Amino acid sequence: MARKIVTKVSKTAAAKTKSGSTQSRRDDGVPLSQIIRQRITARKARFHANDNIAEFIEPGEIEGLVDEVTQKLQGVLESLVIDTKSDHNTRGTAYRVAKMYVNEVFNGRYTPQPSLTRFPNISRLNELMIIGPIAVKSACSHHLCPIMGRVWIGVLPDKQTSKYARITEWVMCRPQIQEEAVVELANILEEKMKPTGLALVMEADHFCMQWRGVKDLNSKMVNSVMRGSFLKDANLRREFLALMDKNQGR
Ligand SMILES: [Zn+2]
Repeated sequence: MARKIVTKVSKTAAAKTKSGSTQSRRDDGVPLSQIIRQRITARKARFHANDNIAEFIEPGEIEGLVDEVTQKLQGVLESLVIDTKSDHNTRGTAYRVAKMYVNEVFNGRYTPQPSLTRFPNISRLNELMIIGPIAVKSACSHHLCPIMGRVWIGVLPDKQTSKYARITEWVMCRPQIQEEAVVELANILEEKMKPTGLALVMEADHFCMQWRGVKDLNSKMVNSVMRGSFLKDANLRREFLALMDKNQGR
């Protein structure tokens, strides 16, 4: 039964790759990624690994990007001297990984920011609010290895938005380094919610350390960002950290 499913996936992958050769290039042969790159540079925008470039991608082009990445990853597998023709396990791997990068683990680069509704603040809610732990999945831009962790957000006053988890996911689903990820998330929340205080803590496992054996399996990296009243008020900071400790979610 399981074997049947695997075969099916490989066939879909092969079909997609074939159709991709037209989608991922313009008629004159220019690769789609280069066309997108030209649009970005024409506007003098940045396109680092942790930047969102959704506004430069036109409808239908995501599939073309997946096809182009598939072709490149196939080349990587070939250079790794893996026989993807007779090894049925790797036959559809280039396509699967391309789809995983573009549509899943890095999709915070290619999809527009989720809307963040700002609700009117009601005075009795003028208290510290903690959201978390929010499970986060990211990847390091040095090795493209997973970063798996949790984020806690402290907001003062509570703006009653239910979108914190979605916006966190959107920021995290990009290759980046943890220090920059928390700052980026804090910047967006501060700009959108205009809180008087904002606190962020991220605790994560970096698989590039563990997988390569650089660090032991239990070492976690912790980063925090404090803004506004959290910066000025040590009591508020303590309250947040104490509540965070209670909200470990374990
Ligand atoms: Zn790394």
